[in-house]
Amino acid sequence: MRYVSLRTACMAACLAAATLAASAAAGSPSSPPAEAPASAAAGTADATAPAIRPVDDAWRASLPLDAQAATRAYLDRLSPEAKARSDAYFEGGYWLLLWNMLLGVAIAALLLFTRPSTAVRDWARRVAPWRWLADAIYGGAYVAAATLLSFPLTVYQGFVREHAYGMATQGFGAWLGEQLIGLAVAVVMTAFGVAVLYAVLRRAGERWWMWATGVAVGLMAVGVLVGPVWIDPLFNTYRPVEDGPVKRAVLAMAHANGVPTDQVMEFDASRQTTRVSANVSGIGSTASIRLNDNLLRRSSEAEIRAVMAHEIGHYAMGHVPQTLLQFGVLLFAGFGASAWVMHRLLRRYGERWRLPGGAAAVADVGSLPLLVGALTVFMFLATPVTNTIVRTMESHADLWALNLAREPHGEAEVLLKLAEYRKTEPGPWEEFIFFDHPSAASRIGMAMRWREQQLP
Ligand SMILES: [Zn+2]
Repeated sequence: MRYVSLRTACMAACLAAATLAASAAAGSPSSPPAEAPASAAAGTADATAPAIRPVDDAWRASLPLDAQAATRAYLDRLSPEAKARSDAYFEGGYWLLLWNMLLGVAIAALLLFTRPSTAVRDWARRVAPWRWLADAIYGGAYVAAATLLSFPLTVYQGFVREHAYGMATQGFGAWLGEQLIGLAVAVVMTAFGVAVLYAVLRRAGERWWMWATGVAVGLMAVGVLVGPVWIDPLFNTYRPVEDGPVKRAVLAMAHANGVPTDQVMEFDASRQTTRVSANVSGIGSTASIRLNDNLLRRSSEAEIRAVMAHEIGHYAMGHVPQTLLQFGVLLFAGFGASAWVMHRLLRRYGERWRLPGGAAAVADVGSLPLLVGALTVFMFLATPVTNTIVRTMESHADLWALNLAREPHGEAEVLLKLAEYRKTEPGPWEEFIFFDHPSAASRIGMAMRWREQQLP
């Protein structure tokens, strides 16, 4: 239930595609707000009382059939301290959304109003033999500058905060090394994206924002294809899972559901985090089933089957192409709104920002900070929409998993582990606005309803 992998992959690509250098501010590709911390490793605060009260099969068998009562019994196994901690961790994330948006906009404004940004643009044009190369240089420099300027916030949310909540396993040096790798990746991806985008924008004219949407969706698709193959191995080592009951069980479900691969890969996420995660990545011949070592080590076979059935569900239901389409529609609105704002601001400040007059300004890479700023605000406002797009698919994958693995208890056990860092029982509006996956209360409720209806 790297239930997040889909979103991370998409958002990373989406942001890169939209040349949102702000994404660099939100952390390296290796440090998404990933999945579950294992129960055993939820920090030192509760070394005596377990965060999740352990139970045995007899407890599960004796649960009432009534879905509501069974859900309550599961949720009550979370200790009050663990619940308070996960609430605090998750609610802190609401504010981080705001701070990241404001910082992204502030950096964009700083680069527009000060000299260095256009100085880099002009220098790149002098030294680069081709315009696309000059644009690429500017794009790379923009990401580097934005990363540097947002570094304090990155350290807080990617390192300090993760350690404070007992989810990170890396020392600062190792973490910083990965940030640098992430920066190198972001520079290369953004340079490529910016070169393509502005090559199109120079020819696009009035309707440039429609063309920009097409470019962004194309770049997102490229990101989804190359991410698992070229980028993920920069952060983790992947090796085949040993033959055995777990691998056989996973492959049996995969083959029955049209995932065309015989490979189940394991990766060493424990070097970064205590969280449990897995994903099914790629399409066709590049399809690959991947689960992390935390999941393998800390979960029962029933739990692993429940997790992998969920991931297989994402693949079988075509959630990656669906996400591309739905985010494409959203970006269409985003670029449209950005164009409206940009044209007005350019009329007023274009000269001060040392940009050409009229329509040529949006095709000048020097206006990139303005585009980034506008899209950053739009994506912030669209948070409930993006979360609902993803959350809806996650619910479908949960249902798929229940029908495929038929492990409502395995599913509920893993969800309880996820609940250690994701608020368990939010209000309905809170869940609508902030949750990219349904809350534990919703998901365990679904598993227990399934159990209520399926058992004789
Ligand atoms: Zn998922």
